[in-house]
Amino acid sequence: MKILRSIEEIESLRSEWQSRNLRIALVPTMGYLHAGHLSLVHIAKAQSDRVIVSIFVNPAQFGPNEDLDRYPRDFDRDERLCAEAGVDAVFYPAATDMYAADHSTWVLEDSLSQTLCGASRPGHFRGVTTVVLKLFNLSGCSVAVFGRKDAQQALIIRRMVRDLNVPVQVVFAPLVREPDGLALSSRNKYLSPAERQGALSISRGIFQAEERYRAGVREAAPLLAVVQESISAAGGKIDYVALMDQDTLRPLAVADRPALLAVAAFFGQTRLIDNVFLE
Ligand code: AMP
Repeated sequence: MKILRSIEEIESLRSEWQSRNLRIALVPTMGYLHAGHLSLVHIAKAQSDRVIVSIFVNPAQFGPNEDLDRYPRDFDRDERLCAEAGVDAVFYPAATDMYAADHSTWVLEDSLSQTLCGASRPGHFRGVTTVVLKLFNLSGCSVAVFGRKDAQQALIIRRMVRDLNVPVQVVFAPLVREPDGLALSSRNKYLSPAERQGALSISRGIFQAEERYRAGVREAAPLLAVVQESISAAGGKIDYVALMDQDTLRPLAVADRPALLAVAAFFGQTRLIDNVFLE
């Protein structure tokens, strides 16, 4: 497995692989890898000849009061997990190599980015779309895999690819959970045992809402209430619990078309997200 730290290294590997007509898959991550990330790698391997995992805690997608500096990092462990998973190359750039001091070009998706996490985290998705397009260009990937854990992000990337005719196939991967239901996330490391226990109320509420949906309930109010009550009863602070149209990410009063029930909530200082696609 190759470790690529510079722009020159990834560009030269890309040229070599493309000259041999190898199909390249990219799995963009911020590292501190877990089974959710590795499930993306397995999907990528099945769809390509070579897999690149990028590990980059992208400063452009963090707000001024967010956790950029304390975001968990363990490159040695990530490297080992990637090697075990059969990754061909890890791209691990420095922020100063990814962004020139006078970087001034941004990719702005202007519709889906306005709600949910986009409303709570101004500028976040501008940072995501910009770095993802850079990573697509650098890696020369034909396919890229994104997890449904970050549903809004995946939908925005798919929109960017369509709108800008980016020649990359975007694959959505299922959300991977702990056996007790908690959505796997690098940020789970921040949770104290009591906070982690409380955080289970998010997935519990989501499962109950999903059950109601399967039983035929379509009105947003009862679907959202069960999630809100679950989180509030466990002492969580809700950022949003919302039922959105999957195509527009605008609120739905009735889930009469493919919908996304999305949640963001704080347990302690830690902001967690979770969701379910209702379709
Ligand atoms: P991150 O390192 O958190 O930026 O995530 C990198 C990629 O892994 C994104 O496409 C995420 O959606 C995906 N991912 C993170 N956690 C999970 C999970 N629990 N299940 C599936 N995909 C995930």
